[in-house]
Amino acid sequence: MTKQSEEMTHLLSGYKRFREGTYAQNQERFEKLADGQHPKAAILCCVDSRADPNMILDANPGELFVIRNVANMVPPCESDNAYHGTSAALEFAVEGLHIKDIIIMGHARCGGINALYENAPKPIKKGFVGQWMSIATDLALYIRRQYAHESVEEQKARLEKESVLASIDRLRTFPFIAEAEKAGNLKLHGWFFDIGNGILLAYDNEAREYRPVSQD
Ligand SMILES: [Zn+2]
Repeated sequence: MTKQSEEMTHLLSGYKRFREGTYAQNQERFEKLADGQHPKAAILCCVDSRADPNMILDANPGELFVIRNVANMVPPCESDNAYHGTSAALEFAVEGLHIKDIIIMGHARCGGINALYENAPKPIKKGFVGQWMSIATDLALYIRRQYAHESVEEQKARLEKESVLASIDRLRTFPFIAEAEKAGNLKLHGWFFDIGNGILLAYDNEAREYRPVSQD
């Protein structure tokens, strides 16, 4: 057997703790979960290892339907023959699981958004990440133009938050989402998390700004 890396040994020691601790203490609950999932909401977040929705919401297995991709972006609804992973997950959440809330959660210091901002004047369409991030090139160019008087860091932070709202708009390009929202069966939410201070913000549609989520 090949020698395992230190990193893998560290991670697998966590599995041992799971088996002996969490699983052993909740075996009955886990066995019940095997019958099916009934998550309370769907959340789309970045693949970034610091943006973990289950940790932030202290959620248990089965509670959150988590979709992750680079920079937590919703693609536009496209009906070609390409392989649309995020769109498939959204479709399953709404049509298969009848989810009542979809949350798009952005996060601070997102590497994907940083690259999007930096490359916006000359978008790199090479590779999967470049092509993927070009979904929001127009938004990045708009921020660069409109907020040129702000520092680059401020503009990037603005882009991280605005990109969440643009993703919510693109959610509505999917007929099954637009129809469910119109019928009052689905709500769309924009959130933003900063690991540095541990604060979660939610976009307030009436105030048109992000506000800290109440802890009460
Ligand atoms: Zn990110």
